[in-house]
Amino acid sequence: MNPNQFSEFLKEYFIKYTAITSQSDSSIPTLPSTIGQMKLAQTLKEDLESFGVKDLTLQENGILIAKITGTIDAPPLSFMAHVDTANIGVSPHVKAQVIEFKGEDIILNKEQNITLKVSEHPDILNYKGDEIIVTDGTSVLGADDKAGVTAMVGLAKYITSNNIEHGDIYLLFVPDEEGGLRGAYAFDMSKIPKNLLSYTIDGGPLGEFGYETFNGAAANIYIKGVSIHPGSAKGILVNPILVANDIIARMDRMDTPEHSEGKQGFILVCDIKGNATESEIDIIIRDFDKDKFEARKVFLQKIIDEVQKLHPRAEISLEIKDSYANIANALGDDRRCVEIVEEAMKNIGVSIHTLPIRGGTDGAVFSSKGLPTPNIFTGAHAIHSVYEYLPLKSFTKSLETIIEMVKIAPKYLK
Ligand SMILES: [Zn+2]
Repeated sequence: MNPNQFSEFLKEYFIKYTAITSQSDSSIPTLPSTIGQMKLAQTLKEDLESFGVKDLTLQENGILIAKITGTIDAPPLSFMAHVDTANIGVSPHVKAQVIEFKGEDIILNKEQNITLKVSEHPDILNYKGDEIIVTDGTSVLGADDKAGVTAMVGLAKYITSNNIEHGDIYLLFVPDEEGGLRGAYAFDMSKIPKNLLSYTIDGGPLGEFGYETFNGAAANIYIKGVSIHPGSAKGILVNPILVANDIIARMDRMDTPEHSEGKQGFILVCDIKGNATESEIDIIIRDFDKDKFEARKVFLQKIIDEVQKLHPRAEISLEIKDSYANIANALGDDRRCVEIVEEAMKNIGVSIHTLPIRGGTDGAVFSSKGLPTPNIFTGAHAIHSVYEYLPLKSFTKSLETIIEMVKIAPKYLK
């Protein structure tokens, strides 16, 4: 495969992979949660084998690890993408179409009257005259993250079919990213070396590069009250629902997702349930800044202490677990993992656009396990919607970026 063939290759394999239904289901605890994800992982394994990749392990949990052994001394690189697509309540079956964009609204589905309107997606005008992959209006496209998956397969094809000197390359395909980053949590870090320069290919439009994410934690508050027949409750009853209410009432109404943006964090009360005996509140904490993140945990504990004094006979407990960590925190002084991407994008003429990611990524999970893992663009727009679209030129640049990284990697030996 030569560079003129990149876009045809990507188109062909992307459409092949999107045709394999692999929506995940966060209500199913097994990993992978759906059979389609395993089917896609098997197909990927076969495709990589057919290119001559020999070192492949497909685990029972759907995680596929491929290693292309290096021919020269260079820092080992690792790329990761997720095989599942998001469940947004539409059809799980994807029927991708390639169109030539002329600058006008795109009729995705004539029968159902579904149109991608330029007025609602003005960024699309950047791709006038180009080929764009779109949906038929009834599902997501799943460029999140099959574009990342396909770029990695393209890298394997290019490396194996050309005499490119390279260091060790790891390709990690994980299930169930959507709805809990479960594949990344399940990933056994002993399967890969510690000195990797590691990346997810799961970002958005051309040039996007993210190495700042939230720090994330989940908090559970459990309240046990004192129950008794309401007719003879005076001085005895401790209503756990009202105790929960006292806790929530003490929270900062401005420190919420609906009042924050950019690098601001928040506390979100996600779930509350209660009865006469007990109640429970589920909360998530998010912040880019580690100190502010920790301060929110202290704030929650302070509220619990206050409310406990108010209701001495209630039993209140607070449990906080970290979910993932800001990739930037894990980076430390060794900036090679960022620098190599900056250089690669510059070399292929892509202007880099770094932005804070207001969410978790598989890379944020890896970062919390000690391996900083920034996120590289796939080229996709409007993800998690039926209007999701993938400009072919941006998609090709995603592949070119990682190929360039492989080529310049020897310079980054420590
Ligand atoms: Zn994704």
